[in-house]
Amino acid sequence: MTQAITRERQWEDGGRLRWLYLDMNSFFASVEQQDNPGLRGRPTIVVPVMSDYTSAIAASYQAKAYGVKTGTRVLDAKARIPGLRIVEARPDRYVDVHNRILAEIDQVIPIDRVCSIDEFACKLMGPECHEAAATAIGHRIQRRILENVGECLTASVGIAPSRLLAKTAADIRKPLGLTVLRMDQLPGELLTLKLDDFAGIGPSMLKRLNKVGIHEVRQLWEMSPSRMRQVWGGIMGENFWYAIHGTDPPDIETKGASITHGHVLAKELRPVEHARGVARRLTAKCGSRLRRMGFKCGGLHLYVRNDDGRAEASTRFAVTSDSFRLLEAADGLWETCVRQLRAPRIKQVVVTCLNMVEADRPADLFGWTPDAGEDGRHMKLLNALDGLNQRFGKDTVTIGPRTKMHGFVGAKIAFNRIPEKPEFWE
Ligand SMILES: [Mg+2]
Repeated sequence: MTQAITRERQWEDGGRLRWLYLDMNSFFASVEQQDNPGLRGRPTIVVPVMSDYTSAIAASYQAKAYGVKTGTRVLDAKARIPGLRIVEARPDRYVDVHNRILAEIDQVIPIDRVCSIDEFACKLMGPECHEAAATAIGHRIQRRILENVGECLTASVGIAPSRLLAKTAADIRKPLGLTVLRMDQLPGELLTLKLDDFAGIGPSMLKRLNKVGIHEVRQLWEMSPSRMRQVWGGIMGENFWYAIHGTDPPDIETKGASITHGHVLAKELRPVEHARGVARRLTAKCGSRLRRMGFKCGGLHLYVRNDDGRAEASTRFAVTSDSFRLLEAADGLWETCVRQLRAPRIKQVVVTCLNMVEADRPADLFGWTPDAGEDGRHMKLLNALDGLNQRFGKDTVTIGPRTKMHGFVGAKIAFNRIPEKPEFWE
């Protein structure tokens, strides 16, 4: 038994798989093909406005076969593809589908970061880091999206030790691909890539690399961290070195950390009083996630949407991972938001932790000590609850009234990352 565990650990550590990255394939074009069967199997592009002088913001795989891609001018695309289908973008629809994809992923694994409207990064933890388990998670997410969101919505998955490598891996096999880059096999498949296949190497960085004699990934791989720092002209270079060698740069762990839980409400949960229960439940979920990750937060943001519109509010407080403190804050935000909305039925609730810091950080920037926001008795109780829930499954013990959320989704929606319209045209 001991031997088996040891062997497994060694094997697991050799791969050092820590991230699963999901990238939807030709996202906007796929949504259009999903909604309009007449477009399926046909070269299709999506444009911001109907004009020959604008550029495609997405191209279907059939259009890509002709060399048409995001950024190709409509006039050029038309010249290359007789019978090209051109569709005007529907941002609201893409956000809807984005939210449904979030919900599907969240049923399988918590999302660490929403990187864009069609890219999601998930952190692998414990047994999930096992290659077989990680691969199974990836396939499960791909299948759920196809079955529950739409058969045209294919996703590619990358699994790797660093987030940058996972993103790079997701790009290697498309559509519906899954690529694992193990630490003990690096650089491996990276050597088949071009320099600008890596996120972080755009046209100007490519020029800079070429100028110092770097033309292929083998050479990039052999550069030293200090040389990269020199070429990049700053710490970014060194971070890039660590990332491609399988280690996340430090800021991913702290500054970039965020926790968001959101829920699109089923009919029976829409009356304000029930919806409030959902907000509290999501807040408690944020608290247990903070404790699980070893973080505290110094603020909370609440976003509420109904037919009438949307309302949001945020508040700051001494850093804490005490769910009771978070619930107090959430109750206040709830009152503020609900007052702003006229229609009484709530459709969506999203709770986000702000100002996250590592739990063992000695003192807060604003002079609060970490303990100022916490009650020792609360923390003892919460840690005990976390232990029970970890052991017996989530929601074994909950704080406050148990809200009836059928197949509770708790989809993570980073509200600040739900793309606003302008982002579609970037
Ligand atoms: Mg994509």
